[in-house]
Amino acid sequence: MTIDYQKLRLDGLYQQDKEGHLMLRVKVPAGVLSSTQAEAICDLSERYSNGILHLTCRGSIEFHWLKHDMLAEIFRQLAAVGLSSRGACGGAVRGISCSTTFTHDFPLMQNVARKLNRHFMGNPYFEGLPKKFKIGVDSGYDQSRHLIQDVGLVLVGSQDDQPCFDIWCAGGLGREPQAAFLLEQGTPESGLIPLIEAIVQVYRDNTPPPKRLKYLVNQVGETEFRKLLYMDRQHRPQPQVQSTLDGPTVASGGEIINVPIFAGELQAAALLRLALIARDAATGFLAVTADQNIALPLLAGQNCSEIRKQLEAQGFFNNAQAKVCFRICPGNHECRMGLVATRDIARDLIAGMGENGRNRKWAVSGCSNSCSQPQLADHGIISRRLVSKEDGTRSPRFDIVQRNDASSLGQIILENLTLAEVHKFTDGLN
Ligand code: SF4
Repeated sequence: MTIDYQKLRLDGLYQQDKEGHLMLRVKVPAGVLSSTQAEAICDLSERYSNGILHLTCRGSIEFHWLKHDMLAEIFRQLAAVGLSSRGACGGAVRGISCSTTFTHDFPLMQNVARKLNRHFMGNPYFEGLPKKFKIGVDSGYDQSRHLIQDVGLVLVGSQDDQPCFDIWCAGGLGREPQAAFLLEQGTPESGLIPLIEAIVQVYRDNTPPPKRLKYLVNQVGETEFRKLLYMDRQHRPQPQVQSTLDGPTVASGGEIINVPIFAGELQAAALLRLALIARDAATGFLAVTADQNIALPLLAGQNCSEIRKQLEAQGFFNNAQAKVCFRICPGNHECRMGLVATRDIARDLIAGMGENGRNRKWAVSGCSNSCSQPQLADHGIISRRLVSKEDGTRSPRFDIVQRNDASSLGQIILENLTLAEVHKFTDGLN
């Protein structure tokens, strides 16, 4: 049977290698998983993959090294616990991310993320887009993730019992990073879906594949883009959307323990242990954070030190490297686009760093797609390929981006470094 790998993308699959191994990305709105869902993921990973999961910066979970004939059963078992990978890759509305896991308003963010996920996922009107379309929901500006979304929603208050959001638009990373611009201020929750629908449709109608929304806005300018949106909203029937922001979420009011996971690489067996602690001793929920860790929310008034002791006893705080904030994409360990072994590089860099270096936020990406969001770290390392003019040989080189200002993306400060030169930079930080 000939497999159409391009078509598989809409089901959250990318081809990993010439042998046809597949990566499957599961959408997890706002990164929140019930313990039952986590247990199902562990079981699938042990049975069909290599028992190792990858936590992404957008709160999704990836399986690697799957084969095509396993997919029907995997999809069935994901659906049985309310999970899906539909639209997690390819030209679709991707998983709805949230970077403000540790804030008071996280339960509200989860509800918004779930509602948007329900509306856009698997909906044929919002599939087959020119390229990916990313939405993020955050309860404040601290993490700056709104800058890199096609649509970034930032909670700014409430009016008439409705939460209100600033709407940021047309951000993105990749080869040509661009910060989002502020489209609207204080939009009430009931206006989110009609507005995002219009943005998606304007994007679909006016953008050639494989370009993102930022390309369209660059081509026509912000003023013309706003006109296109206005026209779309005049002529297209507007969805009648009821506000349904209530529903079960991670219980609020309790502390949230951050469990550091090096490189977002999590053994299924370790996730199972966390799921059982969440189920038996806490809220029954876990969350994948924007820094590729696991957050364990506790019940209001629950004794944090008891749970910490349980986690310590199971070795969850023993990995010194995991304590350094270092976001890492799979690189050529698992990704066909990867130019370097990102996890190995990060391990070696951390080993050589002094305390000042370890206290900063880092990210390394295995290619210019920038899946680990290096432009939002204090220092980001982006791999690229250098082709020798003399003999055509290829070798990896690295650009270093640095972020000095929380309201913009990091900029390249050093280009075309060898790995030894990257070490010199990271070792010498003071
Ligand atoms: S940044 Fe490149 S190498 Fe890393 S996961 Fe994304 S596409 Fe793959």
